[in-house]
Amino acid sequence: MTDKTKKWLEKVKQTKEKRKSQVCKVYELKIDKSHISKEKSIYLKQLFLEAKWLYNSILSSEDIFKFDLKNKKIMVLDKDKNQIEKEIKVLSSQMRQAVHQKICYSIKSLSTKKKKRKTKEVGRLKFKSQLNSIVLNQFGITYRIENEKYIFIQGFKKHFKVKGFNQIPENAEFANANLIRRCGNYFLKVTCFLPKEEKARTGKSVGLDFGIKDSVITSDGNKYLFQFSETKQLKKVSRKLHKAKLGSSNRYKIKNKLQKEYEKISGRKKDCKNKFVAKLVKENDIICVQDEMIHNWRKSKLKGFGRRIQFGISSGIISDLKKKSETVLVPKNFPSTQLCPSCGLLNKKGLGERIYFCSCGYFEDRDIHSAKNILNQGLKQISMECRNQMPSEKNPLFDSFWIKQDFLMTKEAPTFR
Ligand SMILES: [Zn+2]
Repeated sequence: MTDKTKKWLEKVKQTKEKRKSQVCKVYELKIDKSHISKEKSIYLKQLFLEAKWLYNSILSSEDIFKFDLKNKKIMVLDKDKNQIEKEIKVLSSQMRQAVHQKICYSIKSLSTKKKKRKTKEVGRLKFKSQLNSIVLNQFGITYRIENEKYIFIQGFKKHFKVKGFNQIPENAEFANANLIRRCGNYFLKVTCFLPKEEKARTGKSVGLDFGIKDSVITSDGNKYLFQFSETKQLKKVSRKLHKAKLGSSNRYKIKNKLQKEYEKISGRKKDCKNKFVAKLVKENDIICVQDEMIHNWRKSKLKGFGRRIQFGISSGIISDLKKKSETVLVPKNFPSTQLCPSCGLLNKKGLGERIYFCSCGYFEDRDIHSAKNILNQGLKQISMECRNQMPSEKNPLFDSFWIKQDFLMTKEAPTFR
């Protein structure tokens, strides 16, 4: 081992140690296209074009793993499948390496999939007619940031104005980035490392039920309706698309417009979902959710139900919550809508009945009732886990549970089968 590799290994070890106390976050920045010069816009187009050429030419080479990246003249097929020579002018050596690396990784992951035979058919990598992302591996070299406003990309002397720096905290440590093209706009997805922060305990817990009339119902009686309807513009554009001639350039333009409209709606949905999940996590130590099959609702033929879910965000909220350490999943078969928390009877209720009532005299709003049931069941599940395991640092839920224990003693729901 030479001194150089020793130093390098030492550095890798140090970074690994440091990452343990950090969390990884990705921020999306948008390149401001409003005042972009022609030169810059040509450069960006050329960058993605050359990346595509390189990608396809690596794929068509005999030995992909030993492809000569130093050679700047590559052979590309034109639309009549004649070989023509193209020269790489703007794609820097590190970007070329990243394109090559991406292909190698994909081939390796495809081969492991093949060995595991998890999927029935393992495809092969296809030639691309468009490449929409370029990896910028090294912060400070392939890309750098100046004055929290501009970015520089390796191989191009002028800067690009970028929006969205205000999202990134000051103590963030930059790692790699991804240059992305989407609907004619350019974005930079930056990976950052931030110091882990201890969450303040609130001592609260909540159960969530997901419905159709209201999107989310919490066990403390709050109801939220998240609905994102088709915008007027979207309807207008999709009508236009139906009229446009197949294969015409006009149709292509309209399609792009339509995609932009959809993107706007999905942007709003994502924003709303993120804010709601963040609020829940901030306010509660324990969040109980039932693993529901929202896809089945989508299939339901009840009038209007499918559409409401299509433009809702419930499934997104559930899948986000599943990733959080605060969340307790209640199994699908738990009869949250039927169980009476006061006597333990199972009462079947039709979809039309808004109030749940039991022969024992208990009654409650239908949705809040099932949210409360989910909360009780979730807390019970944690207590079962706690009996088998002493509270440990590994699972923060256990700590919260010990605060919650008095609550359980008094309010424990009867067992059911
Ligand atoms: Zn009852």
